[in-house]
Amino acid sequence: MKAADLNLRDMLQFNPEQGRITFGADNRMVLVGAELMGSLVDGLIDVGDVTTARVLLRRCGKEAGHRLARLFKEEFNPENQQEWLAFGPTMHAWEGAGKPNLAAFEFDPATNHFLLEVHFENSYFADQYLATHGSATEPICWLLAGYIGGYCAEVFAMELLCREVSCKAQGNPYCTFVVKPRDAWL
Ligand SMILES: [Zn+2]
Repeated sequence: MKAADLNLRDMLQFNPEQGRITFGADNRMVLVGAELMGSLVDGLIDVGDVTTARVLLRRCGKEAGHRLARLFKEEFNPENQQEWLAFGPTMHAWEGAGKPNLAAFEFDPATNHFLLEVHFENSYFADQYLATHGSATEPICWLLAGYIGGYCAEVFAMELLCREVSCKAQGNPYCTFVVKPRDAWL
């Protein structure tokens, strides 16, 4: 199946009798309000600090990205890496996380060169942060950065790291995420 054929209107099974929502074969999903995630981020900053929140959310996002990439591979058997990669942003858009647009992609396995840049409109993390705190002094979509990096790392079987280099919460029109090999950031 192609990423363009992903359609959560048909692929989510709502089963209120059992209190379950599932996607694909039997992958449990949960519908929660965007405010809950905003509260979670605020709570992490309150009980720890910004660094703790950043580290924890990036880690959770990374694991979720790896997991979702494996799920798409098993469920939909994408025909190549590009198609497998495309499931990630397509799912983000369907989930309501925001609208990722691919701005740049360079990949040369022979030289270990990898560069992916995503312009992410309507990040719900940025919107929640702006509504609660006003403008941020640094990019704050840590969960999304972890997720994008983890997803790409799983698809391309490389040590990749994603950083958000500018954020809507800082007053930019969209969030910009850049994925490169870990050592290329040093
Ligand atoms: Zn952002």
